[in-house]
Amino acid sequence: MSIKDEEILAMPRMTGMFKTSFKELTKSRKGKVGNYRCSASGLCMRKQYFDYTNKIKVGRPTQNVFLLGHWHHYLIQSNYNKVHGDNCTIEYSLESLIDGIHVTGHIDILLHDIARIIDIKTTSNLYNIKGISEKHEKQLNMYAYLYHLMTGIKIKELSIIYQDSYNEEKHKIYSIKPNEQIALAQIEEFKSLHNSLESRDVPVWNVAEGDEWMCYRCQYLSICNEMDAGFEDVIIR
Ligand code: SF4
Repeated sequence: MSIKDEEILAMPRMTGMFKTSFKELTKSRKGKVGNYRCSASGLCMRKQYFDYTNKIKVGRPTQNVFLLGHWHHYLIQSNYNKVHGDNCTIEYSLESLIDGIHVTGHIDILLHDIARIIDIKTTSNLYNIKGISEKHEKQLNMYAYLYHLMTGIKIKELSIIYQDSYNEEKHKIYSIKPNEQIALAQIEEFKSLHNSLESRDVPVWNVAEGDEWMCYRCQYLSICNEMDAGFEDVIIR
């Protein structure tokens, strides 16, 4: 009898030492032009542009969010690993050169025997999550696309575990079938970002409807306000 996600997630979660160095996890960093991360799929292109041209300062509140998220990742990954053994790889690295740009990613959980990818997202807003968001759908499809390019194996199922940040017993799980067209469209977005970075043309802002709240947490909000008169009025819609 196969063990279901719900049973794995209900297992005791304190399964070992928390290994990743907090310092490494939260150090300031800047993207390298030519390298694009699957996890940035669907994010505002202008924000990504600034992330490549500015060194991101990681403040204490963000560090705490990182730490909490990483802790949940580690515990969930440990349980899947324990249950699925050799059929499970955690932090599976992806890298491919596509049309002159490097695209990289790390799959949180890969279940080889059933060709399933599982990504983990921690959220303080679990109640309002009703399905896989558009940007997460893009990220998952990028994983499936790169995995297929690297191994020749087609992924059959893409899943996300949305884990409540503050209550380890609360989570929602959603699954979809891969759609290559979504990955191909995302690659075009990375290529467009790459062209903007090469030519130093700041892209227009493209926050998806429903994601306007991101602007209020974005460290570049004041720049957008300066560049686009009335930006803040437009974004409250
Ligand atoms: S403030 Fe909004 S539009 Fe401007 S860079 Fe940030 S996310 Fe993009």
